Amino acid sequence: MTTVYRGAAVHDGTGAPPVIGDLVVEGGRIGAHADQDASVVDVSGRGIIPGLIDCHTHVTLPTLDPLRLMNTPLSRRFLETGRTLATTLDLGITTVRDAGGADAGIAQAVADGVVRGPRVRTAIAMISPTGGHADPWRLSGTDARWHFPLYPGMPDAVADGPVGLRRVVREIVRAGADVVKVAVSGGISSPRDDPRHCQLRQDELSALVEEAGAAGLRVMAHAHAPAAIIAAVRAGVASIEHGVFIDEESIALMVEHGTFLVPTLTAARAFLEVSSADPDSLAQAREAVAVHETNLRRALAAGVRIAMGSDSGFSPHGRNLDELEALASAGLDRAQVLRSATSAAAELLGADHEIGTLRPGMRADFTVVNGDPLDFAGLADRIEAVYQDGVLVGGASFDNSNEEH
Ligand SMILES: [Zn+2]
Repeated sequence: MTTVYRGAAVHDGTGAPPVIGDLVVEGGRIGAHADQDASVVDVSGRGIIPGLIDCHTHVTLPTLDPLRLMNTPLSRRFLETGRTLATTLDLGITTVRDAGGADAGIAQAVADGVVRGPRVRTAIAMISPTGGHADPWRLSGTDARWHFPLYPGMPDAVADGPVGLRRVVREIVRAGADVVKVAVSGGISSPRDDPRHCQLRQDELSALVEEAGAAGLRVMAHAHAPAAIIAAVRAGVASIEHGVFIDEESIALMVEHGTFLVPTLTAARAFLEVSSADPDSLAQAREAVAVHETNLRRALAAGVRIAMGSDSGFSPHGRNLDELEALASAGLDRAQVLRSATSAAAELLGADHEIGTLRPGMRADFTVVNGDPLDFAGLADRIEAVYQDGVLVGGASFDNSNEEH
């Protein structure tokens, strides 16, 4: 069965200028030519873009408020994740790379149609050294696992030393990871570690990347400090997440290795609005916001490859597309912003043979937008229809009434 979406300005995700014409969908894939008896959908005056890829989400994190997290039963978290996934899909995001908190069951539930949502490529848990960004220990002596609790299927990912890191990678692979996430520097939302410190040594990172590679997985590295970025890139990670304090030396190394940067500009800004946050964390967030955009401009000018990630969960769910406008105001041209959430993102995920562009043979993941898709401000309100594998799954024209609630 062939369907032709006729008359829209089609942005194919490669960065080429939009072409007004037919988008042909055949058997869930983008087709090359329409046959005579194809059914025609008139989408004239609209824009069509590939299904967007958010390379950094935390779909199981409903809020940053520790009191609310502390008082929320785990089962409710999972049910709320179903709603978050649907909200994310309605934004035209058809694939996410989850950076910690989503076990294999979340990805499975979407893949099997239990809930509607973007395809989930999950890191399961964020690996962190003792005292690192994802170590839940607090000065009270409490294990403050409010954000990412342990439960069957969710390994404890605090580990040290090459041997310890190999073991935890194996546990995460065993638990069904699609990608390995590691915190190399301290972070902004965690009070006992400093984003300016590199907390893993080269031998530890090399062991981790090697072990992930042996299982066919790429590594995404949370890293702010230049020393952390450098160590991670040398070890062979696929992407640096955040990169707030990136400098000339770390930029040059990323260009040399072709490492992606996923800036997550909106995350630290959103964190400033969390009134209950720890004062040390707030101070770190203020400092980060101040320098992040300046440093990103330097990376851009040097030719570092950029992929879009909202850090949703740390930024509010449903606001993922704010990152597109943030990237544009940080100096990416608009076609480059779209690429960062389509073809470049697909390349980072190692999925560019399947998703990220609207070339013949690719999965028919696409979004129909009312107005110009490159006009990112207010884009979330102009998503008319979202398709995965050629099937209407979300957007304003999706009929929610037959969904079970
Ligand atoms: Zn994150």
